[in-house]
Amino acid sequence: MGTILVVAEHREGELREISCQMLWKAHDLSKALGQELVAVIIGAPDESILTDLSERADRVISVGEGTLKEYSAEIYKEVLMDLMEEYRPYITLIGHTPWGMELAPALSIKKAVPVVTDCVDVLTEDGKPKAIRQIYSGKLFSKVALRDAEGYVITIRPGAFPQDVAERRKGEIIRKEAPTTLPPQRKQFLAFEEAGAGEVDISQAELLVSIGRGIGEEEKVAIVKELAERLGGVLSCSRPVVDKGWLPKYHQVGTSGKTVKPKVYLALGISGAFQHVAGISGAGTVIAVNKDKKAPIFRVAQYGVVSDLFKVVEAMKEKLSA
Ligand SMILES: Cc1cc2nc3c(=O)[nH]c(=O)nc-3n(C[C@H](O)[C@H](O)[C@H](O)COP(=O)(O)OP(=O)(O)OC[C@H]3O[C@@H](n4cnc5c(N)ncnc54)[C@H](O)[C@@H]3O)c2cc1C
Repeated sequence: MGTILVVAEHREGELREISCQMLWKAHDLSKALGQELVAVIIGAPDESILTDLSERADRVISVGEGTLKEYSAEIYKEVLMDLMEEYRPYITLIGHTPWGMELAPALSIKKAVPVVTDCVDVLTEDGKPKAIRQIYSGKLFSKVALRDAEGYVITIRPGAFPQDVAERRKGEIIRKEAPTTLPPQRKQFLAFEEAGAGEVDISQAELLVSIGRGIGEEEKVAIVKELAERLGGVLSCSRPVVDKGWLPKYHQVGTSGKTVKPKVYLALGISGAFQHVAGISGAGTVIAVNKDKKAPIFRVAQYGVVSDLFKVVEAMKEKLSA
């Protein structure tokens, strides 16, 4: 029986959401391929994480509990190479995260297996994996066929799958010591620093009025800010607005910004790239205004207006004044 191996991540004592999302997908793959689902966690900070993982996998391998708590590419790579030698996984799922972006290519080269990165889905066709990736800023999906190989390393984009327990399992927990000889480390973990909350906490807002690159220029930001305030909401944005320096980072929604869960999310001039919409999956109602009727944001919005955003903003202000 083959193995689907999922590399679980943790940070600051908590299991990261990507771990559960990968296990959700791995559940499907293990069923489709008739393979065992094995989760590996290195330096697990506490027992409750192992219990959680054991409900999502047939087996949990916990390596270096307590000792390898802080991520180290060099050490984690050695541990994973040993486990891949032992279990010979058919598919190894790793998060497309700072960890995975370092580990996956290294493992692929060391184990001479193909790697495909930043996938939003993994299918099986004729018993072989096919990876789905987004191209052209999320406007198109590509199905990637992989050459025949004994195993595959696939990195999964955070937010691509739900994180619920797909089917409660009772996985066996196997504990392994950290390797006795550790490789030299070129990087050293010093401390974990949480980004400052800033003046507003968009993650707690019930109404977010969010602007994207479609706002056009910095001077226009104030027009929408005024609308947000009059509606009793908070201004948020997509990443280009932050990259251009028009709003501070703590306003940014998305995978490299904040995950938000407002009752209403009004997206103005935002195309709806995956990295952005992954941050609004918990929003109640999404209303999108975009002048391009094919913008991907309309796929996740319950209400959409194909229009220049400034016309909509002005119309809303007029309504509020009436
Ligand atoms: C590792 C990584 C992490 C990332 N993290 C994030 C993240 O956390 N958050 C995030 O947002 N992005 C993130 N990105 C960037 C992401 O891929 C997109 O590039 C970004 O979300 C696009 O922002 P946008 O929709 O504002 O801009 P665009 O994609 O340029 O879209 C602008 C939209 O505005 C519309 N428009 C233009 N003018 C008007 C107008 N006058 N009225 C109405 N509509 C108009 C256009 O039709 C277009 O759809 C990340 C990318 C990478 C590689």
